[in-house]
Amino acid sequence: MTRQENLKMQQPVIYQLLQAQLRDNRRSHAYLFSGSRGSGTKDAAILLAQSLVCQNKTGVFACETCSACQRIANGSYGDLMVLDGREQSIKKAQIQNVQNQFNKTALESSGEKIYILDGAENATDEALNSLLKFLEEPAGMKTTAILLTQALDKILPTIRSRCQIFYFNSTRRQPCFEACQSAGLNFGDSWLLSQSTSDVEEAMEISQSSAYTRAREAFIKWIPGFVENPWQAALILQNEGLTRGKNREENRQVLTLLLSFCASFFRVLCANRDLQDDWWRQQQAIYRQKQLPAQKLLQVVLEIQDQNNRVANTDLLADQFAYRMWEVTQ
Ligand SMILES: [Zn+2]
Repeated sequence: MTRQENLKMQQPVIYQLLQAQLRDNRRSHAYLFSGSRGSGTKDAAILLAQSLVCQNKTGVFACETCSACQRIANGSYGDLMVLDGREQSIKKAQIQNVQNQFNKTALESSGEKIYILDGAENATDEALNSLLKFLEEPAGMKTTAILLTQALDKILPTIRSRCQIFYFNSTRRQPCFEACQSAGLNFGDSWLLSQSTSDVEEAMEISQSSAYTRAREAFIKWIPGFVENPWQAALILQNEGLTRGKNREENRQVLTLLLSFCASFFRVLCANRDLQDDWWRQQQAIYRQKQLPAQKLLQVVLEIQDQNNRVANTDLLADQFAYRMWEVTQ
């Protein structure tokens, strides 16, 4: 299977985003691909790099077979620099070394220069700053950096805000989903639980928690409520005690679960998938019919989810979630 086919199948949302950017020629200078091991961030980075330099393109993505494409894939392309921070931290001096090299004329005819930084969470802040600063200068015009991380929360907000973040979906959910179903849970519960963990035992534990019961109820009310009236949907969160609630620790768990359910809902919507469940099919049909911007809604959920890993104030975040989602529909 080619990288393109693989990306399309495993990460349909990322596939669409990249496709649109390459087609409209509005790519970013700095990408941050966030995803767990096995989610395909590295392959997507290689495909993107190939698509910037391929000499034999017929569509928006690279052919993956021409000489330039092959050299990107095996790491021998002259203007590609791959730094691996997974084992050893990337220091500022290494980045500067590469920059010095890149400042000289391009070795390859495309003129494109590309960095791939694997394990960006292990690069020092100075190294990342130095890299991004360079990209923002005129000399960095035809330079693209693709940072890969498995721990987005370890990357400073000042770095993140200067990159376009792509959130890769975990691909380890299917086995957990199937195990939940075999354990006698219905489709809806199995699906939702496998969105929050890939560990079956943990899924079973969550399924018995009161946080799960609350999150599930909130989700089942929120999804139809939002499409009906995005502003009123904020009240659902209030009525569920998510904002200004008393039990802070549990509220945090409820919000975390609710966000992962919503992320899944919009991912399925973006990918145009039909799930084997009446409630899901019905709700997705309504959302499609109303033509809400699923991609933008997903982006908001992912951003709030990301903040939820860092911000302690759940009340405030729940409010912000409601507000930002409403804003997208305006
Ligand atoms: Zn090619």
